[in-house]
Amino acid sequence: MALIVKKFGGSSVATPEKIRAVVQRVLKEKKTEDKIVIVVSAMGDTTDELVTLAKRLTSKTYGREMDMLLATGEQVSIALMAMAFQAAGQPAISFTGGQAGITTSNAFNKGRILDLQPQRVHQALEAGNIVIVAGFQGMTADGDITTLGRGGSDTTAVAIAGAIHADVCEIFTDVDGIYTSDPRVVPEARKMDTITYGEMLEMAKLGAGVMQPRAVEMGSRFNVPIHVRSTFSEAKGTMIQEEYAMKIKQYLIRGVAQDNNVAKITVLGIPNRPGFAYKIFSELADKNVDVDMIVQSVRIAKEGVTDITFTIARTELSAAQEVLHHIRAEMNVEDILVDDGMAKVSLVGAGMAGHPGIAAGMFGILSDNGINIEIISTSEISISCLIAEESVNKAVQAIHAHFFAEE
Ligand code: ASP
Ligand code: MG
Repeated sequence: MALIVKKFGGSSVATPEKIRAVVQRVLKEKKTEDKIVIVVSAMGDTTDELVTLAKRLTSKTYGREMDMLLATGEQVSIALMAMAFQAAGQPAISFTGGQAGITTSNAFNKGRILDLQPQRVHQALEAGNIVIVAGFQGMTADGDITTLGRGGSDTTAVAIAGAIHADVCEIFTDVDGIYTSDPRVVPEARKMDTITYGEMLEMAKLGAGVMQPRAVEMGSRFNVPIHVRSTFSEAKGTMIQEEYAMKIKQYLIRGVAQDNNVAKITVLGIPNRPGFAYKIFSELADKNVDVDMIVQSVRIAKEGVTDITFTIARTELSAAQEVLHHIRAEMNVEDILVDDGMAKVSLVGAGMAGHPGIAAGMFGILSDNGINIEIISTSEISISCLIAEESVNKAVQAIHAHFFAEE
């Protein structure tokens, strides 16, 4: 007997026919004794459509009501899928995130799973059901509906897999695994058989859109093997798991990621005294704006002032603007510059540390292509460069060609 969590994304359940196809596939692959939990996203582009609907009423964001609205998308798909299983003669029951026992923080639109009490899921499985859980949503301790951030169904699936000690969490999607780069940008990108949580987390954070970073974090924390595979084929995809048998040469560099959703903000002429960075970044944090790269530099020519440049997701720019207005009004800064046409290109690989020359190789490729680097940042297993968005595809292609040349 196996205990399996299967997650189907929006494109896999976009129409009743596709829902029926998922049901048939699940039943065909299911062994009699298997226990199966299915996590689904909203049908097709439903979530985007709900966002647009709200925008037609108001440009402001209303956290709690937005979540009330967005969570309906997943409720439609779980109900339809449960009906489709029942129509096929398979007992099935659907649960919202709250009913499945998911408690989140109070951060609307960005809820974090704090606790998962899956008793109802267990009971329903024991009773012979396939259990269908709404992805992307949970409930606060006070009983308010929250959502987990765009793409959050992955996190729901992995969290449930962890809580019920599933053998594997399968993420069904419209690509057949994790690639060394986005195949739409780099046609010769290769599919990986395995990748570690650490590398996948870095890839996901750095823009490889296949999985929500929090889902990967969750997998690592609960040691749930995650199998990313295609809804439309039976081929094996990519396993995300703990260490693989590492062949150093082969795994020095695992992928080239890109993130096009980047805005750069520069605050010029900040008094160079304690407390100013704290003020800027704590105000951003209060607005729930995630800051990514940060550089502070002291101007030699003009004593007593400093400049801070940082990056955020371009989609969070309007929330950040409120803070920037405030800073401009309150702090004696020279100017604030915003550039919303930036992108980040990153090289990822657990074997990179201790191999000098890799960063230089990457910078050399950018230089050969006449691409200016605005900010560089590194982690133990990645190097990222901020560049103009218009050059990012070219950069990714050139870096990939250099580091993944056929041996
Ligand atoms: N439906 C939500 C979204 O589109 C959650 C998900 O698909 O994972 O972001
Ligand atoms: Mg979706």
